Amino acid sequence: MAIISINIKEGTLKREDYIVGIDLGTTNSLVAIIDKETGKPMAIEGKDKEVIVPSIIYLNPNGEILVGNEAKPFLIADPSNTIFSVKRLMGKSYNDVAKKESLFSYRVIDDNTESLVKIQSGNKFYTPIELSSYILKELKHRAEKALTAKVNKAVITVPAYFNDAQRQATRDAGKLAGLDVLRIVNEPTAASLAYGLGLNQEEQKTIAVYDLGGGTFDISILNIHSGIFEVLSTHGDTHLGGDDFDKAIVNYWLDNNPKLKDLLKAYPSQLQNLRLMAEDAKKQLSTSLHFETNFISRNADQISNLELTLSRKLFEQLVQPIVALTIQSCQQAMKDAGLQNKDINEVIMVGGSTRVNLVKEEVKKFFNKKILNNSLNPDEVVALGAAVEADILAGNRKDILLLDVTPLSLGIETLGGLMDVIIPRNSKVPQRAAREYTTSKDGQSNLRISIYQGERDNVEFNRKLGEFDLTGVPGMPAGMPKIQISFMLDADGILKVSAKELRSGVEQHIDVKPQYGLTDEELETMLLDSLQNAKEDMNFRSLQEAKTEAEQLMYATSRFIEKNQNELSDVEIDTTNHFVEQLKKATTDGNKDQILKAHEELNDFTKTFAERLMDKAIVMALKGKTIDGN
Ligand code: AMP
Repeated sequence: MAIISINIKEGTLKREDYIVGIDLGTTNSLVAIIDKETGKPMAIEGKDKEVIVPSIIYLNPNGEILVGNEAKPFLIADPSNTIFSVKRLMGKSYNDVAKKESLFSYRVIDDNTESLVKIQSGNKFYTPIELSSYILKELKHRAEKALTAKVNKAVITVPAYFNDAQRQATRDAGKLAGLDVLRIVNEPTAASLAYGLGLNQEEQKTIAVYDLGGGTFDISILNIHSGIFEVLSTHGDTHLGGDDFDKAIVNYWLDNNPKLKDLLKAYPSQLQNLRLMAEDAKKQLSTSLHFETNFISRNADQISNLELTLSRKLFEQLVQPIVALTIQSCQQAMKDAGLQNKDINEVIMVGGSTRVNLVKEEVKKFFNKKILNNSLNPDEVVALGAAVEADILAGNRKDILLLDVTPLSLGIETLGGLMDVIIPRNSKVPQRAAREYTTSKDGQSNLRISIYQGERDNVEFNRKLGEFDLTGVPGMPAGMPKIQISFMLDADGILKVSAKELRSGVEQHIDVKPQYGLTDEELETMLLDSLQNAKEDMNFRSLQEAKTEAEQLMYATSRFIEKNQNELSDVEIDTTNHFVEQLKKATTDGNKDQILKAHEELNDFTKTFAERLMDKAIVMALKGKTIDGN
């Protein structure tokens, strides 16, 4: 991981370019490196002897900034200046998170100057990128202390479903913390690397990465072959995790203990203590069969001492429905990947909640008793894998490629507001794809290229990523220019689009850095919508196509009549105009069958004299003349 270079002038050895692996998590963050002695990845401890840095930032009104365990007490002491779960805001606009504002104890605001969300603390405003950079700075600092060297290069992990805006925001946070982010790696890919999967070039495996943390759940299906990682599908729930297990225990205790219920009614502030007690119970039941405690509460006038118990069996009954939800997600991910459970060779367990026995059992059962990799600390496994990737990038391992997939289709808007997909959903990244288009009007010199992300046929329902104009195309008849639109999606999921008119060489390109990203729910909703509206979308597409074709035929017909007036009889011209009018009306009315009928009538009628004129043109051409006498 460290690159050693020799200073020829001084004859000294210079250690430089440490690359660290960072798991920048919603609740917890970690930094890891490869241990020089063992060659194995290891997470780095802070001065508190803990490897985990809670992703909490305290913005002290006096200007001091505290991160991690030092910031934690202020969640209760000064909630409006204590920021948590900032990862949920990365790359998002105010509109994206407005509905969930109540979930944050700090102020999430929209200052109308930018579409990216900001957080207000006192009279200062912070972006999620800045706030994340404080966590990254803390991790950088702790790595520098442990390595006694400067650290300015990192690999950072993100959820596989993060879109380009969220990835870009993560990269920017790294930059702001003084880190050159060499690679953004998907969390499930990192977890696989931590278990050494994919490091052997001969290996070919399909694996499932089951990640159940405190507040989020993700399942990813990966295919590993020839040292290449390919995410086949992902699914999950951004608000499901160990916290729900704790809540289930709290509710059970309240429902079965009237005295406790009364106590909580009188002193609601005790709820937090009860939650912590429930978490203790849950953790203990991962290793023992029974939990017992005295819930002692000292309030103004009385001391209450209530006995609380829970058996593992009962705990498992309580959380069974929650675990079942994660299994449903696994089912969906397998379906999306087009696989059956027996196709999975190994399962990797990530996140603190995978220590729960029932979780292990249910996952094992679902995946047909396949190997469960849970020997590494599930809280550290993603950071450890990021360190392995850092090691690969430092050139210390055989060439290993990392491939991921794009979660939504990418394409451009074509005539009639239709989505034309250039890179389909679930394509591997990096990816490059190009398609040729042409103009619909004679002499058209400008073309607007609008780029969208989503699964619907009607671009209106998809998400616009950006647009640009291709200008200066030399005047040519409609259909003549050959415009090649190329999409290049890089390994970090950032899209570059270029448009080139091949006959003239006129070219334009942009890097698509969307202003804000999608929430995970929106991503899911977009996918669901596309399935639920498949029929409606098909009707929309065929109507739009019929309209576009009708408009093209009307345009071509009027040009034809104009050019060949002298060769046509009045009846022919009048009847043609009549059919054009009928087609125009059908197009305005928007009835597909009528459009197709009117289209056919106009076509049939004009065909006879078009053929006649064509024959004549050929005869004239043979005589060395063109039809309009030039
Ligand atoms: P993570 O977000 O991956 O750090 O996971 C944190 C979650 O794991 C929290 O809900 C913890 O309560 C839970 N957790 C940690 N240790 C255990 C354990 N021994 N048994 C069950 N759950 C645990």
